[in-house]
Amino acid sequence: MDIFPYEFRPKQAELVHFIRNSVEQGRCAVVEAGTGMGKTVTSLCGTVPYALDNDMRVIYLTRTKSQQKQVVREAAALKVDVLCIPIQGRSAHSCPMMRGDQSLASGTSEEISKLCSEFKRRDENGTCQCPYYENTCNADLDLWESKLRTDHPEPEALNTMLEEGMFCPYEMLKLLMPGADVVAVPYPFVFVPQIFDRFASWLGVPPSRMIVVVDEAHNLPDYLREVQTYEYSLVAMDLAEKEAMEHGDPEVHEGLTVSDFVSVLRETLYLAVREYLIDDDGMLPPYFMEDELMSRLGVTSVVLGRMFKAMEEIGDGIAEARKLRRKLPRSYIGSMARFLYAWSDCGNDIYVKLVVGDDHNPRFQTYCMDPSPAAEVLNSFHSSLHMSGTLKPLDSYVDELGLDEPVRVTMPGIFPEGNLRILYSDEVTMRYEDRFREENYSRLTRLVRTALMCTRVNTALFFPSYELMNRMVDDGILEGLNRDVYFERKGMPQSELMEVFDEFRMSEGSILLCILGGRISEGLDFPDKALELAMILGIPYPKPTAKLRALRRYYDIRFGDGNRFTSTIPATRKIRQAIGRLIRSETDRGVAVVLDRRVVNLPDVGAEMTDDLGYDLEAFFSVRRRS
Ligand code: SF4
Repeated sequence: MDIFPYEFRPKQAELVHFIRNSVEQGRCAVVEAGTGMGKTVTSLCGTVPYALDNDMRVIYLTRTKSQQKQVVREAAALKVDVLCIPIQGRSAHSCPMMRGDQSLASGTSEEISKLCSEFKRRDENGTCQCPYYENTCNADLDLWESKLRTDHPEPEALNTMLEEGMFCPYEMLKLLMPGADVVAVPYPFVFVPQIFDRFASWLGVPPSRMIVVVDEAHNLPDYLREVQTYEYSLVAMDLAEKEAMEHGDPEVHEGLTVSDFVSVLRETLYLAVREYLIDDDGMLPPYFMEDELMSRLGVTSVVLGRMFKAMEEIGDGIAEARKLRRKLPRSYIGSMARFLYAWSDCGNDIYVKLVVGDDHNPRFQTYCMDPSPAAEVLNSFHSSLHMSGTLKPLDSYVDELGLDEPVRVTMPGIFPEGNLRILYSDEVTMRYEDRFREENYSRLTRLVRTALMCTRVNTALFFPSYELMNRMVDDGILEGLNRDVYFERKGMPQSELMEVFDEFRMSEGSILLCILGGRISEGLDFPDKALELAMILGIPYPKPTAKLRALRRYYDIRFGDGNRFTSTIPATRKIRQAIGRLIRSETDRGVAVVLDRRVVNLPDVGAEMTDDLGYDLEAFFSVRRRS
């Protein structure tokens, strides 16, 4: 079935064929596809025909709303009729009944879901408290299905349309899901077991009839570590204590109350800070917390377990009572109990227990080093496709996730090679101990000034830290250039960042100062002349924290090369992501300059040395000026 909606670019047909084969064989496929390959449309064309022929569903996992929108657009363009349903996780903002209530704004999807059940509950007269839900239950689903099939509204327009018709967008999409051919959802719909169970029941098919596409797959290992990591802070302890006092400080064991327990937990955290926290974190002995709690409270491990249980029940009671009052069904005592369970249940083989943060708000953290247990679900699907522009080395990705005998392919970008030059200078190093050494630092400023003075194209400077950004600005790297300058600031709200980004994109000859590995260097597109020169100041190696050392040791034992998995590969991906901002179409041209001689240790970046940066830049950009 040929459903490709455009004229094939070179290699696209080959990629679609590769994906189709893998799906037909029920295999997992791992693909690095360079710029211009059309990852979304090729993924859909490789998976949808088999899904349609075999009554399967394509589950398209995206990280951002704009990627989800792209899936809807490309599904609409296919030369076949498909029902594509985009759905996001629940939030108070997405619910028309809760949106106006600021006290609900911080609700987690689980809390909002519980509150929603309360709104949906019918009273003794059979009346439901939520008119949107009532209307949705009586909706003409066939009509909505055909509307989605013919109009293919983008996610935001679809939500608005449903709300204006007094329907609940979330519930309506759930009801339409059994008829869907493609469902575009965020990662948690597959990788958080409780959410996946619900999602699978709405779809009405078992995992063996699902084909999963993981978009921007290079993010997956870190994401899976995160979803299996738990932490608990000093601030959360204060909230649990306050809640206990508001509820009469209930007893949890023979004269010991919740607030007694919190005091001891707090003392234990302070002790961890004093004894183990160095800079960002510190590793704790495996049973540090349990031993301290037992000895300070004078109880056995069995009693300690009973206290957790008692606190969980108290928390459930508080959350339930709040739910009935239409408040967030939240209990800080309950959250503390759940964290303590998670802490005690985490096996020391793949988890490391840490104290993290700073003196003001330290936290206990049980950090999961291994993404593969959370990735196991992937082996239960008919097949899975992992796509990214920066996935190399594919073998490491496969090993890290424990994927089952996947097929793999690397497809280079299809745009003319000469449109992109990647240069580096061996005059400087950004090793932390050397970057501010006088000689090195003055060479660095000279190189940046040279590039900014001999070109007048839109330029991004990617810094390894705000510290270096501020220091170089204070030292005058921007002086006398007479060019507009834009900044990514620490903690900038997303909306403000997007304003900066949009203004920069629309400008000419401007300079953008931002953070390597930050929100701008990954995921945002700079088409055409919006960005032509990217200067990357340093290699984004991760900080040598206790967590990183533990991870490196773990990978040393597992694969014999911890450094590669924890430093070389992530740093290479971050640099390639930043470079990827330059070329988004076949007419885009640009230069990336890595200012750090250590880039020679990252062969996948593919940088060539420049002896004369000014000359090379002028030569590259004069070609366009002449043409
Ligand atoms: S059914 Fe929909 S509109 Fe009603 S409370 Fe639940 S999420 Fe909100």
